Amino acid sequence: MFESDSQYPATWYADSCRERQIHRPALEGDLDIDVLVIGAGYTGLYTAHNLADKQVNVAMIEASRVGWAASGRNGGQIILGFSCDMPPIEAQLGTERARLIWDLLRDSAQEIRRKISQHQIDCELAEGHLWTSVLWQRIKILADWQEEAAHKWGYEHLEMINRKDLPGYVGSDRYVAALYDREGGHLNPLKYVLGLAAAAEQKGVRIFEQTKALSYQKTSDGYLVSTPKGQVRCKKLVFATNAYIDKLDTRLSRRVMPVGTYMIATEPLTEAQASQILPTNAAVSDNQFVLDYFRLTQNRSLLFGGKCTYSGKTPANLTEGMRQDMLRVLPQLKDVKITHTWGGHIDITVHRTPDFGRDGNLFWAQGFSGHGVVPTCAAGRVVANAVLGDTHLMDMFMELKTPPFPGGEMFRVPLQAAGMAYYRLRDYAIPGLSY
Ligand SMILES: Cc1cc2nc3c(=O)[nH]c(=O)nc-3n(C[C@H](O)[C@H](O)[C@H](O)COP(=O)(O)OP(=O)(O)OC[C@H]3O[C@@H](n4cnc5c(N)ncnc54)[C@H](O)[C@@H]3O)c2cc1C
Repeated sequence: MFESDSQYPATWYADSCRERQIHRPALEGDLDIDVLVIGAGYTGLYTAHNLADKQVNVAMIEASRVGWAASGRNGGQIILGFSCDMPPIEAQLGTERARLIWDLLRDSAQEIRRKISQHQIDCELAEGHLWTSVLWQRIKILADWQEEAAHKWGYEHLEMINRKDLPGYVGSDRYVAALYDREGGHLNPLKYVLGLAAAAEQKGVRIFEQTKALSYQKTSDGYLVSTPKGQVRCKKLVFATNAYIDKLDTRLSRRVMPVGTYMIATEPLTEAQASQILPTNAAVSDNQFVLDYFRLTQNRSLLFGGKCTYSGKTPANLTEGMRQDMLRVLPQLKDVKITHTWGGHIDITVHRTPDFGRDGNLFWAQGFSGHGVVPTCAAGRVVANAVLGDTHLMDMFMELKTPPFPGGEMFRVPLQAAGMAYYRLRDYAIPGLSY
């Protein structure tokens, strides 16, 4: 399940930017460094950027390739907020401190735009996100969020779109209402993460690919990390390993469950099809528990994501299963060919709240629970600040409870699958079930 690879998976994204996929060397021999970051996805790269901006000597080791995992194969949807939304954060931290977190997230969404412009990352950035409701009774979730965002978090950019106006935003009869967020958007995630890596290197960050951290130990003045062909001695250590932490630190891996999620890409649509399906070119995700999400690329391919699995096995007939999911939303695409199918792992926590933390000079950020394009940018700031000695944000995040999954190694998957089956049931309009 956690095999690393020297090749990028066969995604639409990998085909979109072959020339940018430069090979970086593996670590051969020993290295002494101030800060070592393990994992070169968004979390690790944002952390490295922030540290390099403060002249810290940083190196990164990546088991596969830069952006090989979730950061280079996700839906590319820029959505404000954490997967858990604000209520559990507010319940645990109080309104005032939750507001700091909301402001951090909002600024992180802008930070993505700043990074793209500052480093001239060509990654097909487009603006606008639509959060849709499939069920009439869940329109209330949209209305409540619009109200909460405006009154509690000072965010007044959410626009409610009623059913009659939906064709101006999305050409699907499946939805009954939506919230349009003009500060959301979408991008090509692999182009973006490769651009972030190139910019980090320009700031002096050293990135080693094909260099898996096999184990680590504490030393008198920091940490010693073993990799296949060398050891790294560092004063401070950052885990940015997402769903792949596995046996590197079982204390942390017990707090996240890797869940498989999948995407397909279509052949390019005609201009008429594209403008009927997404007239404003916004990204779409729905408010079902097991959600569907989709968007157009610059060349008008439709990228459609959904499903989730807990077993680590790819579902049988995945392409056809995903195609049927897409046709449930967009039946007008019945004659359109599917060109790519792929999957990846997200790292969910028990309450879907993020798990950021520190223990001495060891730092981590994980548990994005499927929603990481914006939150990883926030994580990079929280972790880098803590590494630099300003722990006030980190300490706040550490008050969010992220308990280990019940059931231990053997039973956490079946227990979680049973729990998820219950929530899936609630994705259907069943009389008697409350929402
Ligand atoms: C299919 C899919 C669709 C998604 N769609 C969206 C979306 O539209 N919007 C959104 O906000 N979020 C989405 N997400 C979630 C989002 O992609 C992630 O939350 C985010 O990319 C996590 O970034 P990361 O840097 O923490 O982890 P990753 O990108 O997974 O990077 C972790 C890296 O650590 C490396 N690593 C792990 N262990 C070791 C080790 N021992 N030694 C060395 N290296 C190691 C891995 O190889 C990997 O490259 C999606 C995820 C998936 C899988």
